[in-house]
Amino acid sequence: MVAFPSQLLLSTKHRKEQILQHLFEPLGTALFTPEGFDTDTFGTFCGKTPRIDGPKATVKEKCLAGMRYAQQRQGLASEGSFGPHPQIPLLTVNEEWLIYIDLDLGLEIYGRSTSLDVCDQHLSYQAVDELDSFLERIEFGAQGLVFKDKLNDEIIDKGITDRKRLLELIEKHHQWHIATDLRAHLNPTRQKNIIEAGVDLIKRMHNCCPKCQQPDFSVKKYSGHLHCSWCGRPTDHHANEIYSCLACNYEESKMRSDLTELDPQFCLHCNP
Ligand SMILES: [Zn+2]
Ligand SMILES: [Zn+2]
Repeated sequence: MVAFPSQLLLSTKHRKEQILQHLFEPLGTALFTPEGFDTDTFGTFCGKTPRIDGPKATVKEKCLAGMRYAQQRQGLASEGSFGPHPQIPLLTVNEEWLIYIDLDLGLEIYGRSTSLDVCDQHLSYQAVDELDSFLERIEFGAQGLVFKDKLNDEIIDKGITDRKRLLELIEKHHQWHIATDLRAHLNPTRQKNIIEAGVDLIKRMHNCCPKCQQPDFSVKKYSGHLHCSWCGRPTDHHANEIYSCLACNYEESKMRSDLTELDPQFCLHCNP
């Protein structure tokens, strides 16, 4: 079995090593961060540095840059994004990626987790009456805030977790706007999702190809059709999951474990 090194680089400056350390410790791996490496050049949430690529491309680039900087052959990096749900645009989705790269073994493994449990909330000066209930709802303190002056759309301060500081700013800037800070160390709901991405990554690391032992023998394609439990006709929902190895191309098809037939409410014949 392929193992993580005992000292593993995590390219971050938002204390993600504290969030992820407990997952890696039982595997005999201690995480460390590159001292002085600025990950903010890869895009920030408050819009100062726009992110050009999608999170998957960004996380790989960040990981390789950190490995070059710290002169490591193995490394981890994490990257998250927030955006509208593809089917229900009113909902916000948080997608977290964690990548592991091992240059010696040619490994590039992606752990991923998406969550609708998102703390992405805003309040403006017009709703000052709701300030207390807002702060309570977002669990202000553990959850940090970004403070903007709306007149010139300028970010005055971020990472605010102190009530006194917040009230000072509100006093000074009449047309204010506050938003939950989305950076990992200031956003507890995001931290939970980063841990889920870590769990996914470690699972992939341990699922090895039965032919060549390369990690990340995982579901990459689907096949077949589930039949409707009422009319028995094939539907457009897949019946099998195809596990494949990117190193030797070995594939294994397994029946999906969650369903053996489809509820008629999703059948286009029974419920057009
Ligand atoms: Zn293989
Ligand atoms: Zn049917």
